[in-house]
Amino acid sequence: MTETTTEPNGSSAKQPAQADIAVTGLATMGRNLARNLARHGHSVAVHNRTKARTDALVATYGDEGTFIVCDSIEDLVRSLKRPRKVIIMVQAGAGTDEVIEQLADALEPGDIVVDGGNAHFIDTRRRESALRERGLHFVGTGISGGEEGALLGPSIMPGGTAEAYQTLGPILESIAAQVDDTPCCTHVGADGAGHFVKMVHNGIEYADMQLIGEAYDLLRTVLGKSTEELAEIFRTWNSGDLESFLIEITAEVLAAKDPRGEGAFVDVVLDQTEQKGTGRWTVQIALDLGTPVSGIAEAVFARSVSGHAEQRQAANGVLEGPSTKITIDKPEEFVEDVRRALYASKVVAYAQGFDMIRDGAEAYDWDIDLGAMATIWRGGCIIRARFLDRIREAYEKTPDLPSLLVDPYFARTVNEGQESWRRVVATAAAAGVPVPGFGAALSYYDALRRDRLPAALLQGLRDLFGAHTYRRTDAEGSFHLDWSGDKSEQEA
Ligand code: NDP
Repeated sequence: MTETTTEPNGSSAKQPAQADIAVTGLATMGRNLARNLARHGHSVAVHNRTKARTDALVATYGDEGTFIVCDSIEDLVRSLKRPRKVIIMVQAGAGTDEVIEQLADALEPGDIVVDGGNAHFIDTRRRESALRERGLHFVGTGISGGEEGALLGPSIMPGGTAEAYQTLGPILESIAAQVDDTPCCTHVGADGAGHFVKMVHNGIEYADMQLIGEAYDLLRTVLGKSTEELAEIFRTWNSGDLESFLIEITAEVLAAKDPRGEGAFVDVVLDQTEQKGTGRWTVQIALDLGTPVSGIAEAVFARSVSGHAEQRQAANGVLEGPSTKITIDKPEEFVEDVRRALYASKVVAYAQGFDMIRDGAEAYDWDIDLGAMATIWRGGCIIRARFLDRIREAYEKTPDLPSLLVDPYFARTVNEGQESWRRVVATAAAAGVPVPGFGAALSYYDALRRDRLPAALLQGLRDLFGAHTYRRTDAEGSFHLDWSGDKSEQEA
């Protein structure tokens, strides 16, 4: 075993190592997380399957704090104070299982294994259960904020036991983003709760980005705004209710020039969006839970449509657009309409995401504080935004709020914005601009507030073709109509 401690002054010295915490997997995320831990005064044991990454980390950043270089998982385990705390930051999937297995063999009961990768929460539940049987704590932890967040302060969503959080929590809270002196890290709930909430966070991120894309497309296509003008509009929006990291970087991307030419950067980027899978997972699980996350689903599908290049090419020029060009008499009013529609649609996407967390908590028996989730997303993560404070307040005031949309602030916001929202969706349809996000959000809003839905007719159809029965508005019980006979009603 080689134990090398790199002291804050950068010198390396052989000495008994007593690391506070370890990180294994030192690619982009692990390296930055290890640096963040060291910068906050924690002595960090570092390990990577390919040693060159460990050496590079210490050679380049060794003077940022105390790093203890470990050649093997066994070295790593030996270097740690008890209870040992090891953060795994390796590629999600089989790699994570391999590393967990190696660690489980080397660790002792009471030690804590943290998976900070983007694992599916079902995998986390399986791993937690397996390690619990071996006396180990397994803490599946969502970490958001990408490369920069990991270094400067991410939003951290740890699952696992409350007991593990007591030991681990203070360390994680010390490296998380801080907003109003509150760390963007809290214990989310048991076993896979942390990764579940991170998954929904990513789903919301998909929806948020899709809505921003639609606002951009509308203003550009309908009003003919230049990218410079659009950058300015988003910059202005960022000083109001919409203030958020995503709106801020939208202005930055729109203002960027093509590094190879004169035009706008956005005009030379291939318009096919990629996805790593967390948005898709969110929708798959939402289908199982029965939570309508239409905003997230439309965002995932919109990315799929963009990627179907051959179909798009085949349809281009074959499928016709509107025959008359839309003219907007008061462009400034339309910009304001789009801003309101964007905010209202965003509120719907978040309302649906929080509904999904509530439904997931019920299905998997987690005690998740929804207001606390809004609190830890206020900084560090991609969806950090001013209005998360409003969500925190809404759930603090009424923890069992049936929908974020009925909270007085949000109800007022969508009510005040609904006329704008309708004009925008109608204009988009007339102008031939696809707005699946805006449209789905408005439909959800209308479905929620309506007195009666066509679901009544659907129940009639189901009873006719499949004797699925129906319930009445004026009587208890289930009924079936004798459709092929005398149309009399029977109690089912
Ligand atoms: P990658 O996902 O690119 O994974 C590379 C790392 O995994 C390397 O350290 C590699 O070791 C190690 N690894 C892969 N397979 C094995 C294995 N079988 N045994 C041991 N080590 C293995 O790294 P990132 O830093 O991008 O991400 C780490 C985790 O964090 C991932 O789960 C990712 O999904 C998650 N994440 C990433 C974010 C991002 O913005 N990149 C944001 C939030 C989470 P070696 O050097 O030997 O190849």
